[in-house]
Amino acid sequence: MPPARPRGPHESTAQAMSVENVSRFEEADGVVHRRTLSDLLIAPIGWSAERCKAGHFLPESYPSHSPHWTMCECGRPADDDRFAVRQSSTELLRSTNHAQQAMWWHVSRSADLFVNDEEQRNPRYEYMHWGEFDTVMHHFLAYLQPFASSSGRMLYLYSAVLRPERLVAADVFVENQGVAEHGELKQAYDELGPIRYLNVRERPGSISLLARKSDFVVHQGFDLEQHDHRVVKLP
Ligand SMILES: [Zn+2]
Repeated sequence: MPPARPRGPHESTAQAMSVENVSRFEEADGVVHRRTLSDLLIAPIGWSAERCKAGHFLPESYPSHSPHWTMCECGRPADDDRFAVRQSSTELLRSTNHAQQAMWWHVSRSADLFVNDEEQRNPRYEYMHWGEFDTVMHHFLAYLQPFASSSGRMLYLYSAVLRPERLVAADVFVENQGVAEHGELKQAYDELGPIRYLNVRERPGSISLLARKSDFVVHQGFDLEQHDHRVVKLP
């Protein structure tokens, strides 16, 4: 059980930013439609972008997959339909230029991610999720379970920047796995190129990028557990 934690600020006290490039796929009466958002709440500094069903921002907690860790002090659970952007992620969302120049991070089971031909052999690996450093560490911790076999562990951390000619799309989507398992993101990538999305489930409020291996210049690869004597293979 987590320690006792304070109740977060209420959403009615949070700042909002106006946005022109953000939309979300939602379902109404069995039909999926794309809703354009005109503004987005910003999580207060020091709080997660997640809120409970009564609108209180939740404390930061890693990993936050256990319901014990996402229950608000008021007794209500986290609400997936209340999304917000993190204070530290607003520029990645607001500025295409900033996202274009940012360092992106990815964790993988593969020590040779950038020199293998997995993509050609298995279309499942065609699209990749890249994130802010803290977001991929969140992912790493979530997979680093004592019971997980070594083959299932995310052990290798990669940092990369986009190739200058691979332009980030202006559009940003708010993740909504309840409607589609990122299918809409893949479609947007095919039409527009590397595409940003606002995380709702994993390190909520951070900005991630859906892209392909060939979009990146890789900088470094790290063996996170340091027990593999092989060298991480870079191009
Ligand atoms: Zn609450």
